[in-house]
Amino acid sequence: MKRRKFNATLALGSSGIALTSNIPMACAIDTKQNKKKLGIALVGLGQYSTYQLAPALQDTEHCYLAGVVTGTPEKEQIWADKYNLPKANIYDYDNFDTIKDNDAIDIVYVVLPNSMHADFSIRAARAGKHVICEKPMAMNVEECDAIMAACKKEGVKLGMGYRLHSEPYTQEVKRFVREKTFGNVKYISADAAYHSTTDPDQWRLNKSLSGGGALVNMGVYAIQSVIYGTGENPISVSAQEYSTRPDYFKDTDETITAQFEFESGAVGNIMTSHNANVNKLYASCDQGWFELNPANNYGPLKGRTSEGTKISFPHESQQKLQMDDFAKHILFNAPNLAPGEMGKRDMMIVEAIYRSIAEGGKKQELHFEPEYGFSK
Ligand code: NAD
Repeated sequence: MKRRKFNATLALGSSGIALTSNIPMACAIDTKQNKKKLGIALVGLGQYSTYQLAPALQDTEHCYLAGVVTGTPEKEQIWADKYNLPKANIYDYDNFDTIKDNDAIDIVYVVLPNSMHADFSIRAARAGKHVICEKPMAMNVEECDAIMAACKKEGVKLGMGYRLHSEPYTQEVKRFVREKTFGNVKYISADAAYHSTTDPDQWRLNKSLSGGGALVNMGVYAIQSVIYGTGENPISVSAQEYSTRPDYFKDTDETITAQFEFESGAVGNIMTSHNANVNKLYASCDQGWFELNPANNYGPLKGRTSEGTKISFPHESQQKLQMDDFAKHILFNAPNLAPGEMGKRDMMIVEAIYRSIAEGGKKQELHFEPEYGFSK
């Protein structure tokens, strides 16, 4: 019996013992509900881990914050105290590989600058841990392939940090498209952008750490929106880049627009920028329209339709829903809502957009294998 499975069995069998998150086990038991919970280690304790993921992990049903990996020694005690983490579950970038011996950690969640996603995802897979990789998946398609190959070889699951696939507004958009509630989508528009003015030395403005600018950051949401907003992968893209603050955006793209064609005849347009605040999805169909505005921030999201109805759901942490969905994929074989193939597909589109810009806006044909079809 594999160690993880053995410990899982042990944990289930010993449900009378009160387990807490600082007891190293493959998983802990939620004593109230007697359910197995998977241990997650966050790698990189920046803004997203600190203000979104760690708080969300206090409310998750199927996983919990079991450990952290940080390159900043001062953060070790702060996180240990705040989240009651045992010293044994705190790693730095150098000793990270020894996490393979730690049965308290089932999932490694890579929340580092983009240039470090491939390295840490692959090392996590080699340590026998399931992997969640933040967006964008990596610096290029080649790195996406390397991450997927490592996870496949080691027999671990791979999920992207695409939180929207777990939240209800996005599910509603997918339902409108699937059920043709407003008929066929003819035109889809998605904007994902924010106005960046802070620290000019931040890693997001440094191409060797980020891999690109607005496109790889917010643009990924816009790409995702036009895909689930039509229910199709695009068959071509043409793109343009605009720069108005070259002194600030020295190394990375500021504003990009791109146009997509889809097999059905639908067309799409995206705008992504680090120089404007906009966050929406609008779909014009042959019998009406629907929109989300905001469409992809942390929520609460908002939406409306041509029937005069509001799209409205109770707000819940998207990150909580996302991490629970990935845990359910591991524990109960539930669908993987954002698999590595989806991250790679988006990176293929990102590369095609940059290629189009380099070729003066020339249309780039896109071909996706059938396995990229399921993940709309
Ligand atoms: P951040 O700058 O706040 O944190 C980055 C962390 O990486 C810090 O703890 C920093 O110490 C560490 N780090 C290690 N090496 C570094 C280096 N060479 N330069 C800079 N920092 C270094 O960034 P963040 O906002 O937490 O983003 C981290 C990742 O999460 C990115 O890939 C980003 O795209 C992704 N993200 C996703 C979402 C989402 O909604 N899914 C939201 C925010 C960020």
